[in-house]
Amino acid sequence: MALHGTYDPDNIFAKILRGELPCIKVYEDDVALAFMDIFPQSEGHTLVIPKDVTARNFLEMPGDKLGPYMASVQKVAQGVASALEPDGLLVTQFNGAPAGQTVFHLHFHIIPRGEGAQLKPHASGGPRPAEELEPIAEKIRAALA
Ligand code: 5GP
Repeated sequence: MALHGTYDPDNIFAKILRGELPCIKVYEDDVALAFMDIFPQSEGHTLVIPKDVTARNFLEMPGDKLGPYMASVQKVAQGVASALEPDGLLVTQFNGAPAGQTVFHLHFHIIPRGEGAQLKPHASGGPRPAEELEPIAEKIRAALA
């Protein structure tokens, strides 16, 4: 999908927000929901999505909602850092398919990086089972509690 277009209310993350699809949740507040990426690029790869918006990407996020959402993104990033103690932390997002976006509801990726460790490819490979992701999610939840 191009950079500009119409928000699809049936995108995967909208369905997760409505509870129509499951996710392994690590954090939720009034403005954001955070959960484990099912195709993690590294252990602890977490996504933070804004609630109550129809923003396909960063450009479409209402300015008055951006600050509170970014505060939640930072909080989750701090939780991931505290829980997993990575060497580095990548916090990023993509706008439009040519930039690498595959799900068209705004989200930030929080991706722990290990010194010298390669990231797995973006949004590919097989989905990781819940039994693998849940213990990592529990560490992040505990750090955020
Ligand atoms: P994007 O490519 O849009 O920046 O990121 C979308 C992310 O969502 C990818 O990292 C991909 O692995 C992840 N993803 C795709 N489908 C699902 C899903 O059904 N559940 C979860 N938890 N993550 C998903």
